[in-house]
Amino acid sequence: MKRAFLLAHPAGHSLSPVMHNAAFKELGLEARYEALDVLPEALALVMVMLRGREVYGANVTIPHKRAVIPYLDEVDDAARRIGAVNTIVNRGGKLTGHNTDAAGFLRALREDGGFEPEGKKVVMLGAGGSARAVAYALLAAKVASLGVFNRTLERAERLASDFETLGPLAVLTGAELEPAVTSADLLVNTTSVGMAHDGRDPDVSPLPSGLLPRRGMVCDLIYRPARTRLLREAQAAGLKVQDGLPMLVYQGALAFSLWTGHEAPVEGMAGAAAAALR
Ligand code: NAP
Repeated sequence: MKRAFLLAHPAGHSLSPVMHNAAFKELGLEARYEALDVLPEALALVMVMLRGREVYGANVTIPHKRAVIPYLDEVDDAARRIGAVNTIVNRGGKLTGHNTDAAGFLRALREDGGFEPEGKKVVMLGAGGSARAVAYALLAAKVASLGVFNRTLERAERLASDFETLGPLAVLTGAELEPAVTSADLLVNTTSVGMAHDGRDPDVSPLPSGLLPRRGMVCDLIYRPARTRLLREAQAAGLKVQDGLPMLVYQGALAFSLWTGHEAPVEGMAGAAAAALR
């Protein structure tokens, strides 16, 4: 039996096992996906295990997305530029690192959101790990402008300096946020503000009350809850909204195809993830 793993710490609430096991089942593949709770000091040993003959590879999440890089034989361009690996593929004992968050985000935006980012004005809230994947994706898709706002200014500045050669990216500071948001075609929240804690939906938004784009779309990477306060307010203002579930499904679908060589059954994966969320 083939195996794929999630390397995480803690590994508790991930939707990846249900999504991938549903996909293996649907395609009749004898394979199993397991979440492993990997302490940082155990990472070296786990990376040796990934080279085993029966292992497709792994997904990687907090806190190992950067830490796995020194253990890999190759890292693709997107993952190198983003500075984080979320998918490892094992081919005959050789490990390659990929980042499928960027492509997953774009596919979700285009296919589920019906939004083509080329030539659009975008504001992104946050500058953490997922923000780097989203910024890479949006710049590769040739947005007209990308304004980045983050609580910790230095982190946004680091992101901007890492990506300055990729396209028109600017860091937004306090007073610049309001005009940038109101004139944006797309607002993306990559912060964890609004995420459910201990099963409860916190009633907070990463934006000051009443501040929203005048047109277009608001996208939140959070999928628990499906409707964050930001998305509820955007919806009430007549804007198109998208939560983080389609991105989660498409980044997983891409990992699945890299491991197995099969097209991923995205509808089945999305259904399994949505059922687990309920
Ligand atoms: P991360 O690297 O830890 O970054 C967290 C970001 O949130 C930083 O920009 C941080 O700002 C900001 N933040 C946290 N608390 C804040 C607060 N109280 N006020 C203002 N800003 C705050 O996390 P990540 O991996 O990027 O994940 C961020 C979110 O995206 C999570 O909710 C995660 O579940 C979601 N996500 C979804 C998908 C998907 O497939 N849908 C994929 C990846 C992540 P500072 O820099 O100031 O700390």
